[in-house]
Amino acid sequence: KERNGHEPEFLQAVEEVAETVLPYIVEHDIYYGKNILLRMVEPERVIMFRVCWVDDDGEIQVNRGYRVQMNSAIGPYKGGLRFHPTVNLSILKFLAFEQVFKNSLTTLPMGGGKGGSDFDPKGKSDGEIMRFCHAFMSELFRHIGSNTDVPAGDIGVGAREIGFLFGMYKKLRNEFTGVLTGKGLSWGGSLIRPEATGYGTVYFAENMLKTQNDTIEGKQVVISGSGNVAQFAAEKVLQLGGKVLTLSDSSGYIFDADGIDADKLAFVMELKNVKRGRISEYLEAYPNAEFVKGKTPWGVKCDIALPCATQNELHEEDAKALLANGCICVSEGANMPSTKGAIVAFHEAKILFAPGKASNAGGVATSGLEMTQNSLRFNWTREEVDKKLKEIMANIHDSCTVYGKGEDGYIDYVKGANIAGFVKVADAMLAQGIV
Ligand code: NDP
Repeated sequence: KERNGHEPEFLQAVEEVAETVLPYIVEHDIYYGKNILLRMVEPERVIMFRVCWVDDDGEIQVNRGYRVQMNSAIGPYKGGLRFHPTVNLSILKFLAFEQVFKNSLTTLPMGGGKGGSDFDPKGKSDGEIMRFCHAFMSELFRHIGSNTDVPAGDIGVGAREIGFLFGMYKKLRNEFTGVLTGKGLSWGGSLIRPEATGYGTVYFAENMLKTQNDTIEGKQVVISGSGNVAQFAAEKVLQLGGKVLTLSDSSGYIFDADGIDADKLAFVMELKNVKRGRISEYLEAYPNAEFVKGKTPWGVKCDIALPCATQNELHEEDAKALLANGCICVSEGANMPSTKGAIVAFHEAKILFAPGKASNAGGVATSGLEMTQNSLRFNWTREEVDKKLKEIMANIHDSCTVYGKGEDGYIDYVKGANIAGFVKVADAMLAQGIV
């Protein structure tokens, strides 16, 4: 706390892990007295750099770039890049810390990292995005590599940005390697990678519901966000027979009482991914829906909530509203969307609640599968990757159950994910000595 007191999001993420992991350490002699958690909260390396680029008016712009290389005990650093004006070291350290546990849970050999910039992609032309990405990579390329650190996308970094970043890396290094994931299919990408985080979040919800002999079919589902994760979470809910009632962006949410069906979702995908418009424009095509400005969708009555936008978007009062409306399951697609108060409320009500580090791990798991395919110089089919994704999500669910199931049978997925993620990384660190 003394060292990181000015980094609230990082402290929040560490406290949530410490609450469940510290008692476990105290009970287990192999971890006790070795300052193992203290070592885990200190990044192995943080790189901060200047990014200069020229906008369409010929003005020189300056942004700050980052890469937090948190932990490489079980594999190369792995984690996304975020381009958003709110990006700072606290947010990237929280994301990198979460990533260490998440990557451990996937069972694949990946360490944890995260990076990005305070660059705001909103309203920028394709040319500006390309110049920024090239400038960003002209420094980052020194610090990454297919066996060192393999970044991916996150908020503000999708297929377009990964393409520009990869192009500059390849030019500077003169090598074609799997240094980034989320690549296009014709140049090293994996089938199902775009869908993986959203699909995985819904698969995790399915696994949780199964413990109650229940399914997604016929359920009313509220989703926040309308980016990569939200879009494919919605697609999977529809495929499994659920009804999607909401989507959102930073300007507010849309509520469609008739349900956002496959055609309407295709409209949203075109609106967000091609036209780069606002979610309120949904009403131009579907005037029966409502747009609620400046609000999150947690007041809408539902059975299942999937927060898929950003951190700290679901507060204690939102959790209470969801519970009062009969919500039985929350599966986090975003990273740390629920505040501490919200998590306490879900746990007290004993509903099914999955933290992002377990339920959104399908994205990075499929990135791991992309790395494997790149190394093999071979592509698996859509069905093969989806099958592996489903198996990984089921395995993560089982690991959470092993460490999180209480005497009354209630599964605390937060505790389960934290301890299961911790054990593997801690064992590797202990085996490798004090480095
Ligand atoms: P996108 O950039 O594709 O979409 C982000 C969505 O969230 C947009 O609808 C955006 O609205 C909204 N949003 C972003 N910031 C805010 C904010 N401060 N307040 C309200 N809404 C906001 O990102 P992703 O879908 O990739 O990521 C969403 C979440 O999922 C993040 O927490 C990310 O870390 C997490 N995640 C993503 C993975 C992936 O594979 N992509 C993997 C694991 C986790 P607007 O357009 O108005 O900004």
